[in-house]
Amino acid sequence: MDIGKYEIGYKSDFKLSDIKPNQTGQFDSKEDAEKQLVKNVERMAELQSILYAQDKYSLLIIFQAMDTAGKDGTIKHVMSGLNPQSTHVHSFKQPSAEELDHDYLWRASKNLPERGMIGIFNRSYYEDVLVVRVHDLLKSQQIPEEFITDNIWKERYRQIRDFEQYLNENGTITIKFFLHISKDEQKKRLLERIDDKTKNWKFSAADIKERQYWEDYLRNYQETICETSTKQAPWYVIPADKKWFARLLVSEVIIKSMESLNIAYPAISKEQKQVLKDCKQKLLKEK
Ligand code: ATP
Ligand code: MG
Repeated sequence: MDIGKYEIGYKSDFKLSDIKPNQTGQFDSKEDAEKQLVKNVERMAELQSILYAQDKYSLLIIFQAMDTAGKDGTIKHVMSGLNPQSTHVHSFKQPSAEELDHDYLWRASKNLPERGMIGIFNRSYYEDVLVVRVHDLLKSQQIPEEFITDNIWKERYRQIRDFEQYLNENGTITIKFFLHISKDEQKKRLLERIDDKTKNWKFSAADIKERQYWEDYLRNYQETICETSTKQAPWYVIPADKKWFARLLVSEVIIKSMESLNIAYPAISKEQKQVLKDCKQKLLKEK
């Protein structure tokens, strides 16, 4: 699949309206996409096993989206074949008192994947240039007043780019997904959560409130994506009105990104080979 179409260039003139949330690439059937996803899940498991054995790189996968866009479902389906021992999912909620007592990247740093591991952020430090900006929450972040200037968002974009570059230069590869749904699709999904008893638990009246800020969020997402999509840590805008397409595309991007890494099972030295040979002999000689 041509994933380049969904990768956003740094400081490009990309507009979110360029990518229609209901598009499905060259796939017109859910069945074909699901078959491909099964294969991709297997391939991801193979690549993860090499990543873990090599124990040098780690992969950080960030999901950002409006409510109901399908972050949870995508994480569940795309990651279903991964080894739980080498995968860690962290969800970012409203910051706790302890978290607010630190800089905004602190809680992310604490939850970064170790070498060999895949870390998934369900929301992330990007909330600090999104929800915090939309709802004007800077004052609750206990930042010294002289640093709260009109430039603060540009400064945060730079801090985030620098942070991700630092991670990259130390072996952590970051991939960022924005699951892009339409406002109509969100309405449909919210109504489903109200009407379907098995989905009632997912409904939150707060989502209806956030929906009123839809345009504000999209404007900020667009700016954030353009300002922080770099070669080392690209953003992918994933059309997400069709869940089956979003899941497939996410899996394609993860595979391509992992395949581009210099990963391989660790090579074995001459001495180690001899040890293996000797041990095999011993085992075979056992009565
Ligand atoms: P779901 O609703 O699918 O379970 P969710 O990610 O929306 O998942 P919630 O518990 O509903 O989870 O929401 C978490 C909330 O925390 C979001 O509204 C998000 O914007 C907010 N949040 C995350 N980080 C911050 C932050 N740094 N400052 C303020 N609010 C934040
Ligand atoms: Mg929510």
